[in-house]
Amino acid sequence: MAAYFNMETLKFLMFNVHKLEELLLNERYNAFDKESILLFLQSVADFSDQDLYPIFKEMDEKPAKFSEGKIHVHPKIKDILIKQGELGIIGASFDEAMGGLQLPATVMHAAYFIMEAANNHIPGYAGLTAGAAHLISSFADKKYHEQYVPNMLSGEWSGTMCLSEPQAGSGLSDIKCSAKPLDDGTFLIKGHKIFISGGDHEYAGNIVHLLLARIVGAPAGTKGISLFIVPKYKISPDQTLVNNDVITAGDFQKMGQRGYCTAHLVFGDNDQCTGYLVGEPNKGLSYMFQMMNDARIAVGRGGAAIASAAYYASLQYAQERQQGRRLLSGGRKDESAGPTLIINHPDVRRMLFLQKAIYEGSLSLILQSSIYHDREISDKENNNHWNLLLEFLTPITKTYPSEKGKLAVDNGLQILGGYGFCADFILQQYYRDIRIMSIYEGTTGIQSLDLLGRKVLMENGLVLKTMLAEIQHTISEGKMDERLIITAKELEDQLPMVEATLAHLIPIAMKGETEKFVSDANLFMEAIGTIVVAWQWLKIGITASNALNSSDAAFSASMLKNKLHTMRFFYKYELARNKSIFKIIQSDEVLTLAEDEAFPD
Ligand SMILES: Cc1cc2nc3c(=O)[nH]c(=O)nc-3n(C[C@H](O)[C@H](O)[C@H](O)COP(=O)(O)OP(=O)(O)OC[C@H]3O[C@@H](n4cnc5c(N)ncnc54)[C@H](O)[C@@H]3O)c2cc1C
Repeated sequence: MAAYFNMETLKFLMFNVHKLEELLLNERYNAFDKESILLFLQSVADFSDQDLYPIFKEMDEKPAKFSEGKIHVHPKIKDILIKQGELGIIGASFDEAMGGLQLPATVMHAAYFIMEAANNHIPGYAGLTAGAAHLISSFADKKYHEQYVPNMLSGEWSGTMCLSEPQAGSGLSDIKCSAKPLDDGTFLIKGHKIFISGGDHEYAGNIVHLLLARIVGAPAGTKGISLFIVPKYKISPDQTLVNNDVITAGDFQKMGQRGYCTAHLVFGDNDQCTGYLVGEPNKGLSYMFQMMNDARIAVGRGGAAIASAAYYASLQYAQERQQGRRLLSGGRKDESAGPTLIINHPDVRRMLFLQKAIYEGSLSLILQSSIYHDREISDKENNNHWNLLLEFLTPITKTYPSEKGKLAVDNGLQILGGYGFCADFILQQYYRDIRIMSIYEGTTGIQSLDLLGRKVLMENGLVLKTMLAEIQHTISEGKMDERLIITAKELEDQLPMVEATLAHLIPIAMKGETEKFVSDANLFMEAIGTIVVAWQWLKIGITASNALNSSDAAFSASMLKNKLHTMRFFYKYELARNKSIFKIIQSDEVLTLAEDEAFPD
């Protein structure tokens, strides 16, 4: 079995860097201990080895296909969905009372990370089902929970999020799908939804769509959007399933994630599609944000998982491929020694370290965000504090692994030279698969607007201040360790650059020049994302250094030293670039605003 993730690193990040056992002391999670969590993760790893990884390539080569009104996916999907239900993966973080395991979301994310590294075409089915079920449990009438959620958590029924329409992608205020109230309290749904992941396939007994639509006469814009449960099959009073006028018009053929179907759905073409309102009218987008925020962390996790799998594939290749000679002193080639393994060339090592630094840093960021999520729901006294931190990190956790994950996989492909470009080798599939991550769940452009235009300004800057205080706390800790003083100071040096950049930008916002204010939001995201991941690497460094000092037998000294080395790599090769990014943002020259003239040919 090829390696696609490293359990030791995952354990180190979860239990040592992010101190999961402290979270387990909380009443909500105290049914679990380290041992039971490791057993759960091992069962997910075994399942991934046996069921997910072996069909990864095949799912790309024989993609989901639409014919005769149906979408056909890989035949193994049927058993896989049921097995995920049996293993408790779909309901992993649900309350026990709701039929879940009540595991911390951090453990759920770790489990999905393993599955996605094995085969990123599959976990989305379960992830969206869990997200849709969670929306029903949180906001819908209890009777809907009873009707839908148990079958969803068991893997027999699937769930989706139905937001996008042909004219409404990033801009959800333009949603046209309509909902006409009926006398019995239900609604007649009519409209098109496109790009619906897991939107239809033959192996789900029912598909429960959580759909945004506008009740007839509702206000324009996002304030007039409501949320509905719209099942593919309605449950009739005698419990039989009846067609609900949801037609599958096609499956988008994609460059990556080709085994994961993406449907075009038509609701109510025959005026027979029933929708059930979730919560109150016109509050649909605020409810949907629960699923969208969870999905944003999940997309970042997908990026980190693919980057992990690509790293181990290119590492293996670099350890086997011989090419060229090592350079001796004076630039002479050692011809007598024969070709060397490419892993001995500094440029190949640079690419490998870049992959490792990005994927492990990204994974740590995902665990950090999910720890904040778990604390928010379990530590009632301080939940606002944890919420502020999660709010700030969510767009970054979605974007950094998606954007830098692409760079990591690109470098991985480069390590294979010409073979990287060829279908026989897996790197090209990772390269195509990871490309979607910076597009769905809000593009990088939209996440960057959220970070700079919303999160930085939120609560008069309190969100940013709370985040920076967390980072400063880690810096202070790092400065007390001789091994880490330089690293901690390098991170500290970034903070005045953030302040100077905001001192440049905020007056522009205050003048009401909003478009100019956010015109380089994407660069701001890149720089802040790098700082946040550098903070993660400092945390990793502190943990590794402490373990080395105490000769912690749980991890080998070589692994711990390797973490410190990769941390330094990240600071030298990635963090140092931020200076020029901040300089660009602070420049007075504005070149991207739309003026009266047409865009140059
Ligand atoms: C494979 C796949 C699966 C998907 N799964 C789902 C799903 O399950 N459910 C669902 O509802 N949707 C799904 N989507 C839709 C996805 O969320 C949208 O594609 C995405 O939000 C972008 O919308 P769009 O494609 O219409 O692009 P557009 O919104 O047209 O954006 C085009 C470009 O313009 C930029 N842009 C747009 N508006 C702004 C702005 N205000 N400021 C700055 N830049 C802007 C964008 O960043 C982007 O670069 C999926 C899409 C794909 C491709």
